[in-house]
Amino acid sequence: MTKQEDLERKALEIIMKCGDKGILQSELWREINVTSREGSRISIRLESKGLIYREPELSKGRWTYRLYPRHHVTSIDSVMNCPCFSCKDNPICGANSVITPNNCEKFTEWILEGVS
Ligand code: SF4
Repeated sequence: MTKQEDLERKALEIIMKCGDKGILQSELWREINVTSREGSRISIRLESKGLIYREPELSKGRWTYRLYPRHHVTSIDSVMNCPCFSCKDNPICGANSVITPNNCEKFTEWILEGVS
């Protein structure tokens, strides 16, 4: 697993643990120890795969995003099994890409098996 994949997995794990209350992206970046630039890339990639969604929120006078999981896991361990983190197509996969989670069998199987 590359550093990037590991950071995406950690970020998703934290976002899923926060559930319906979500987490401000700045808090998440602090927890996984990345810059806001790196962090923004991670959240955009997770959103592009349909794993999370972002909602704008005014915090301390500045607009930012709160991040929410799209799916609720039955156990945090199931995040570890997300096929995206070890997939060779991860860097080029996204909602508006030729390779997309919308027609990925591995991703669909993981959603159906591990989350509700
Ligand atoms: S191709 Fe499938 S497994 Fe690979 S990153 Fe995209 S959704 Fe995930």
